[in-house]
Amino acid sequence: MIIKDLLRQGGLSFSFEFFPPTTSAGFDALYATIGELQPLNPTFVSVTYGAGGSTRRKTVDLVAKIKHELGLESMAHLTCVGATQADLREVLDELVEKKMENVLAVRGDPPRGAARFEPIPGGFSHANELVAYIRANYPFCTGVAGYPEGHREAPDLSTDLENLKRKVDAGAAFVITQLFFDNRYYFDFLDRATASGIRVPIIPGIMPILNVAQVKRFTQLCGATIPSPFLAQLEALDDDDDAAQQYGIERATQQCRNLLANGAPGIHFYTLNRSRSTWKIFENLKMIAPAG
Ligand SMILES: Cc1cc2nc3c(=O)[nH]c(=O)nc-3n(C[C@H](O)[C@H](O)[C@H](O)COP(=O)(O)OP(=O)(O)OC[C@H]3O[C@@H](n4cnc5c(N)ncnc54)[C@H](O)[C@@H]3O)c2cc1C
Repeated sequence: MIIKDLLRQGGLSFSFEFFPPTTSAGFDALYATIGELQPLNPTFVSVTYGAGGSTRRKTVDLVAKIKHELGLESMAHLTCVGATQADLREVLDELVEKKMENVLAVRGDPPRGAARFEPIPGGFSHANELVAYIRANYPFCTGVAGYPEGHREAPDLSTDLENLKRKVDAGAAFVITQLFFDNRYYFDFLDRATASGIRVPIIPGIMPILNVAQVKRFTQLCGATIPSPFLAQLEALDDDDDAAQQYGIERATQQCRNLLANGAPGIHFYTLNRSRSTWKIFENLKMIAPAG
């Protein structure tokens, strides 16, 4: 089913993001994670696409398996990095063959070591071009990425928002946000998006913390900020992953509760291929009975 219709059904949308593992042990662990999270009845799940198409086969096969064998609606991410239109067409054709219905169209980050994103000849420069290409040639329901704190390369928030609007005007049916730890960024983003005429659902992306070094690395890469009191607490737990994870669960629970109480259409969880934190957050939000 297309995600646009799932979002229109009126209830809240809960989605889980996974990445394709590199090893067969990683795949076994991922299937276990998906099995553990399946009883939470996600609205949909999504699978990321590695830089330069490095996970192409795995992403396509995983979304197909999740949809057809596990019965969960799934969405492949697709990036423009290192891809000509012909390359992108091949991936999109495979997704059609596998009867997939949803795609998250992103530009992708510059390859490691490169200071900026450079389109290749015959490729796309920005995600809005990929969205327009999909709209013109395929039946997919397309989502895009949004940045409550602004994209790292954008000169300012309003230019970034104009660029988000280009993606929506090109045909995106929903937006999933980059992770953030202060809900004021999300609500401000929502107000600005509404004022600029963006009318599609904007689903907040939440990442439960697994360990301190990892969250510092991720936020540095994507340009999200960790509020100072939160960072200070995390740094105090630097050498204790269990305690950091527990603290992350509590913080993410508060964030989700506040988001949902104030009108967010649902939550997209960056699961990092783990089930425990997402499960606990669901329990804390009283969306499932506590274990034991
Ligand atoms: C929910 C989510 C999922 C993601 N999944 C993946 C994934 O699977 N694989 C992966 O590699 N990365 C993924 N990313 C990361 C993403 O690829 C990076 O954030 C990337 O740097 C930007 O992608 P974008 O689609 O937002 O790009 P764009 O929308 O193209 O924006 C990139 C920059 O260009 C500017 N811009 C946009 N359009 C125009 C235009 N027409 N003219 C001038 N400037 C413009 C924007 O303001 C922004 O600064 C994801 C991000 C999010 C939030």
